[in-house]
Amino acid sequence: MPNDKLTIGNVEITSLSDGVLEFDLCNFFPDIPEDNWKGQEHHLTASNGVRFNLACFLIKSDGHTIAVDTGLGPKQTPETPWGELLDDLKAHGLQPEDVDMVVMTHAHRDHVGWNLISKDGKYTPTFPNAQYYLSNTDWDACHDPALIEDRFPNAPECVWPLQDLGILNLMEAGHQITSEVSTIATPGHTPGHMSLMISSQGESGLVLGDVLHNTAQIGNPDWVSRADIDPEQTRITRRELLDRLEREGIPVAAVHLARPGFGRIVRENGRRYWQAISL
Ligand SMILES: [Zn+2]
Repeated sequence: MPNDKLTIGNVEITSLSDGVLEFDLCNFFPDIPEDNWKGQEHHLTASNGVRFNLACFLIKSDGHTIAVDTGLGPKQTPETPWGELLDDLKAHGLQPEDVDMVVMTHAHRDHVGWNLISKDGKYTPTFPNAQYYLSNTDWDACHDPALIEDRFPNAPECVWPLQDLGILNLMEAGHQITSEVSTIATPGHTPGHMSLMISSQGESGLVLGDVLHNTAQIGNPDWVSRADIDPEQTRITRRELLDRLEREGIPVAAVHLARPGFGRIVRENGRRYWQAISL
């Protein structure tokens, strides 16, 4: 797998994947009229759907091995198109024991699926040597009775038990995960959504999380999806971050864009787009 690594100074990011997820357009973008997608079909699948990679970015920094987001979790049937994270880890010569930090960009179900393994009503961490990290705001949000069922359906199994196991660390914006990796608040998609800024040897990089889900949203930053809890805040955060990423030419690791999900925000003829980094 030659092109699934990105290097930022001394930090190495490897793009692993738990598989893929697909939705119909009207399901995922219910507020965007279908006509608006005319001329934007290259952002869609052959059947006009939206396809998500389920990336887990493995960051090596300061001697730590950090898994950022853990996909949707184990397969429900052999045909389930996700559930591949542990196999992919193995294919890269690593074991769950090698991961010593798990950072969640937010508490949505497709980012926490492999956090824990449950057996006979008992939970054990999938990554037995890891400390787990989540924003304190999303910790509160995933306990909000008004949000659990629709927004954080697997939190009771995949997030809540982390605290009882004594391995959960709650973060604020600006939390320094290592000397080279820190959190920045990127709220809207969820109240406590965080991206990770990497700074090493004068170079920068950003692990985006779910600030956007589809490359069409780079040229159309106001297009929010049904997954964005606060549409207006999502637009504000996305516009600010895209401006900065374009201005500073910062390489991005985007969890849901096509594997490996590495690229830059660039502008041509006045229009902004995603330029994949081919390594
Ligand atoms: Zn997501």
